Amino acid sequence: MEFEKIEEGFRLVLSGLGVDLNDPHLRDSPQRIARAWHDELCSGLRDPEFRIRVFPVEEGQEPSMIVLQDIPVKSICAHHLLPFVGHATVAYIPDRHLVGLSKLSRVVNHFSRKPQIQERLTNEITKFLLENLHPQGIGVIIKAHHLCMELRGVNHSSLMTTSTLVGSFLEDPTVRAEFMALAHAGNGGS
Ligand SMILES: [Zn+2]
Repeated sequence: MEFEKIEEGFRLVLSGLGVDLNDPHLRDSPQRIARAWHDELCSGLRDPEFRIRVFPVEEGQEPSMIVLQDIPVKSICAHHLLPFVGHATVAYIPDRHLVGLSKLSRVVNHFSRKPQIQERLTNEITKFLLENLHPQGIGVIIKAHHLCMELRGVNHSSLMTTSTLVGSFLEDPTVRAEFMALAHAGNGGS
């Protein structure tokens, strides 16, 4: 990422809007906005080598579903560069590899922090876990409010739900039902 280019771009946007860049509240805004986009909102772009550490499943351990609910999703819609925020539920049934629960939220955060599309975010999380854990199955559900819909006055709910089911989550109705019940029992409304 090129910090100065981002800063220059926001300066151009503000001057294009015709606002007074000498206003004390706006004077430092291009740099302040660039700092936020560079350091936080798009931090997922700064770590293309993102990896997680996995652990072997212990001998004789029966594989059962591992679920993390209410993972915060804070992302930026690629179409309008406005935030979409909500929660994810991520679950998997291990085969030979496990990952620490906190790592699941790091994976969600990594793929959220860039201009993103909610469907693609769901798919990128699933693909990453598939490649790193080779589990028996994965389920990912994201529910998020899109500010681009709320601020631009579209007159219906902005809550969007996307999901991806792989392996046993797709093929085994019992597994799927268990996952869906857990996903909707979480922080479903936002
Ligand atoms: Zn949008």
